[in-house]
Amino acid sequence: MLGFIERPATVWGPSWTLPVGGVSASVSTRFGGLSQGAFASLNLGFFTGDEPARVRRNRERFAATAGFDPRRAIAPHHVHGTDVVAVDATAVPPEGILAPHPTLRADGLVTTTPRLALLVGAADCAPVFLATRDGSAVAIAHAGWRGTLAGVVGKAVAELCRRADCTPSRLTAAIGPCIGPCCFEVGEDVATAFARRLPGAVRRVGVGVRPHVDLAAAIARDLRDAGVPGVPTPPPCTRCRSDEFFSHRSGAGVPVGRMLAAVWRD
Ligand SMILES: [Zn+2]
Repeated sequence: MLGFIERPATVWGPSWTLPVGGVSASVSTRFGGLSQGAFASLNLGFFTGDEPARVRRNRERFAATAGFDPRRAIAPHHVHGTDVVAVDATAVPPEGILAPHPTLRADGLVTTTPRLALLVGAADCAPVFLATRDGSAVAIAHAGWRGTLAGVVGKAVAELCRRADCTPSRLTAAIGPCIGPCCFEVGEDVATAFARRLPGAVRRVGVGVRPHVDLAAAIARDLRDAGVPGVPTPPPCTRCRSDEFFSHRSGAGVPVGRMLAAVWRD
């Protein structure tokens, strides 16, 4: 019988556009979890078809490696919209992120509460991190193509500034792993919508080839338009790097795991 080799969860750390003090951020990878098959191994999504007990243990492992308390953490259900919700410790359910949140539906979270981790899910959609550069407040957004077109990034910037009582010039940002322009084929309707609102985000690589969208470039444009200084580092493509990250599009119709992105202040 083969012995099971315990490996800690591994995480990916974002690069902030400008230095920030007293803020931590992490994205999970596929490595160091207990799940099997298509969910191997660090699947953090409860609604993927994976065994909930394994997802729970995987979430404990991710939190331990990243360095936050999973019972003082909050992860909403996503609706691919633009709702950005300000939360404090009273919004955290008894089990934190070790069980699905009973009610909260949102694609962005903001807090000024110390050591309260905000999380969003990802498996091609981009996690977008925001913080005041003095570390007094943090935000996170789940930005897929729908949410990005609808303006979730600008909403997160505005809500963070409102809660922190500052201007966007005081913010720093980062974009986590997401599907890259190399792999993000879209239909003409989505390409037209992006071209209209976020010019430069659409790539047409040849006649007869479906258009591709650069989601991270679209998010970077939204951050700039919102007044956030600095240029985000382009993140790795989840589909090209599906050995390291879960990618919805790499699944070809079969279930895939989910990653979580987390941000918190000291
Ligand atoms: Zn790619």
